[in-house]
Amino acid sequence: MLMKADPNPLATPATDEGLPMSVKIRERLLAARKRFHANDNIAAFIEPGELEVLLDEVEVKMQAVLDSMVIDTASDHNTADTARRVAKMYLNEVFRGRYAKVPTITEFPNAEHLNELMIVGPITVRSACSHHFCPVIGKVWIGVMPNEHTNVIGLSKYARLAEWVMGRPQIQEEAVVQLADLIMEKTQPDGLAIVMEATHYCMAWRGVKDMESKMINSVMRGVFLKDAALRREFLALIPKRSMNGN
Ligand SMILES: [Zn+2]
Repeated sequence: MLMKADPNPLATPATDEGLPMSVKIRERLLAARKRFHANDNIAAFIEPGELEVLLDEVEVKMQAVLDSMVIDTASDHNTADTARRVAKMYLNEVFRGRYAKVPTITEFPNAEHLNELMIVGPITVRSACSHHFCPVIGKVWIGVMPNEHTNVIGLSKYARLAEWVMGRPQIQEEAVVQLADLIMEKTQPDGLAIVMEATHYCMAWRGVKDMESKMINSVMRGVFLKDAALRREFLALIPKRSMNGN
């Protein structure tokens, strides 16, 4: 699906070819047949310096949203810079995990031959739902069952990987699967278990306006799938209030 060039030159910051940056990036993705859903990382398709150009483009489009909401950003000092602020917040902060490369994590061979269940958590995670772009804030627990070939990564590195995956418009069920795939790829353990418990602000701020409802889900890989005792051991080590649900 090709996008027509916008007739309003102000709405489309020009690039070398006169195309908006988003169109250029989209065309590369289409040419490579790569998916670019909200929770996909597209860093490989963005050249150095292009994110700044993309940010200018998002600012212009965000200003158009404010204009359409009939907000007088010219006289209202509170919203004068909102378009720029929101564009920066999306691209550089809350959705950075879409545009930034995977954090570099140093993996070490498992020299100690650790083969005991290791649990990391709770790791605080912040995301936003793909449906409403409302915050999703919660906690993640990660259980790793290493073997002698498993790469060892520092505890804080799990948090960095989680931050990268959650820093995209997400769907909780897909987020935990993406995180599990990433940790499996980086560390190659015998088993991996992840539990995520989060408040979805699209349920708290709008919709049913329920501040208490939390969504809990989990993903199990390798030995955690086969070994019910190991699964129980992991779940028992997570605080009680997080164990209702599955
Ligand atoms: Zn939502």
